[in-house]
Formats: sequence, C-alpha cells, structure tokens
Amino acid sequence: MHLFIFLHELIAMAANMFVVPQTKGTVLCCKCGILMAPNPANMCVTCLRSEVDITEGLRKHATIMHCPECDSYLQPPRTWLKAQLESKELLTYCVKRLENDLKKVRLVNAEFIWTEPHSKRIKVKLKVQKEVLNGAILEQSYVVEYVLQDHMCESCTRFQANQDQWVASVQLRQRVSHRRTFFYLEQLILKHDAAVHAIKIKQVDQGIDFFFANKSHASKFVEFLDKVAPTKRRANSLFLTILRIIATIISILSRLKYPRFAVRI
Ligand SMILES: [Zn+2]
Ligand SMILES: [Zn+2]
Repeated sequence: MHLFIFLHELIAMAANMFVVPQTKGTVLCCKCGILMAPNPANMCVTCLRSEVDITEGLRKHATIMHCPECDSYLQPPRTWLKAQLESKELLTYCVKRLENDLKKVRLVNAEFIWTEPHSKRIKVKLKVQKEVLNGAILEQSYVVEYVLQDHMCESCTRFQANQDQWVASVQLRQRVSHRRTFFYLEQLILKHDAAVHAIKIKQVDQGIDFFFANKSHASKFVEFLDKVAPTKRRANSLFLTILRIIATIISILSRLKYPRFAVRI
C-alpha cells in the first residue's frame, strides 16, 4: 500500500517536472522562443518571414517586345500598345505580363523604379501578400526587370517597306497642355474616315503624322480638317480652339527632290 502511494506520487512529480509553464493558448516559437499563438509551423511571423520567401518561383525577369519606331509594346499575340515610359498604361501592361504569377499571390502595389531611358530596361517593384499558414499573412516586395527587345511592329514594318511610296505628309500638332480638343479632332477624323487613304498614321510627341501616297489624298484630308472646324465654330466654342489649332499647326510636307519644306495653312 505504501509503495503504491509512493509510486503514485512519483509519477505525479515527474509529470509536473515535464510540463512547460505556459499561458493558455500560446506556445513558444520553435526558432526564437517568444510566446506566440500556436500555428502549424510553431514559428512566429517574424521567424516565418525569414524562413519563407513568398516570391519564390515568381518571375523576376521578363522580355517584352518594343517597337522603337512608334514606341509601342507587344501585347501577345498581335496587339501593340502605345505607351510612354513610366505611364500608368505601361505599368498595367507590365503587371499583366505576370498574370500567371500573380494568381499565386495577392498584388498589393506596383510601381516603377527609375531606369535610364536608353538602358532598354524597365524595372517594376511589386508588393505581394500570401497566406502561408492559418491566418498568417506574409507581405514581401520584389523587383521584376523587363528587358526591352527591339522589334518593329507590323504597321512600322509595312511603312518601312513602302517608305518610298509616300509623297505627302500632314502633321497635326497641338501645343497646349491639355489634349481634349486634339482627341476630339481625332474622333472626328475616325468618324468620317477622313484618313482612310493614309498609308501610315504615326503618333508623335505632340500630335499625329499622316502619310499619303499621293498629294491629292493629302489635300483632301486637309480640306476635311479645314471644313470641320469652320462649320462648327459658329455653334461651339470648342471648335474655335480646334480651328486655331488647325490654323497654326497643320503643315504639309511635300517629299520633293529638294529639302522638305513646310506650308502653313
Ligand atoms: Zn520566432
Ligand atoms: Zn511601330
């Protein structure tokens, strides 16, 4: 009987010795030993962050096709997007290239990291989140470097092949800070198919160039521009601006054997 009690006490004592004192509902991080809410890895978020790389397997390099002639980017399979460096459109385009990767994580933020314009490199810093354990969400930033590969788009290739075929170009320019009236004019041109005979339409810094295979098509186009403005200007002051733009900025460049000259209308 005495022996039995003794054994019983001994077992109880031993059990007490091996119980780690702990607050209810917390465990110790297996790496740094701080108290934490239990999770399957038994590791605190700080330690998890140092152990788990949620960007592992995500692409850090990508190649994109860039047309150096018209500054556009290939949206596979065949569309070309005209976009300026550091523009919102280009950022969306860059992020879209990582579509498959971004299914594995949650994108929180994306921004450009400045690169030298002639470096043919674009860098985007992405911030992503991923749930690694029950409720433990890790957030991490990483950089994707895009290498621009020069590749002429279809329209520029076509133009290059037919380069000698254009004889006249009409250059539309706008020299005011906002481009509303200019876009409006573009819409009018589209609506009336006014530039239908242009063999090439090229976006340039402050406007658009239209190239024609013969002078009469170019003249017709200028006539159209001339017509849309005065007809409407009585009715709408917006068109006064358009008229002013047209009056000051349209020039016809004729491709003669002499140096190119500009005729202001
Ligand atoms: Zn820890
Ligand atoms: Zn192009």
